[in-house]
Amino acid sequence: MHCPFCAHPDTRVIDSRLVANGEQIRRRRECIGCNERFTTFETAELQMPKVIKQDLSRESFDENKLRAGMQRALEKRPVSVEDIELSLRRIQQVLRGNGEREVPSRQIGELVMTELSALDQVAYVRFASVYRSFKDLEAFRAEIDRLTPQPEDDQ
Ligand SMILES: [Zn+2]
Repeated sequence: MHCPFCAHPDTRVIDSRLVANGEQIRRRRECIGCNERFTTFETAELQMPKVIKQDLSRESFDENKLRAGMQRALEKRPVSVEDIELSLRRIQQVLRGNGEREVPSRQIGELVMTELSALDQVAYVRFASVYRSFKDLEAFRAEIDRLTPQPEDDQ
């Protein structure tokens, strides 16, 4: 990072130690330009990103909303609560792990679809049909065909 005193682009780390029970790294730095010393703290950012909605408004990530959406798609399907929870955890790991402060809701929808397609094909199609709002019947059919194992073409 740039020196906060003279904006020199290069600083040297002269000391580095774990603090806050190992959840932070405290670094003592010295500017190569002006020799001023300063301290930085480094923490893993594990906050969930904000969600950018279709109308470009932002809202906080809501795990319950995500769960409700998946449960709706999985209604009366043979999928355990445990498997749904694991899927939710994976989705949130991806969202946290990519380090973005904001993600489009569309991207979350795609993650849900990936999880659902592994859990249950019927739930996947239910979710996708609502989420992608298939423009026409043709596109919807194409998606169903893609999902349905094709019989051997032996005519
Ligand atoms: Zn400096």
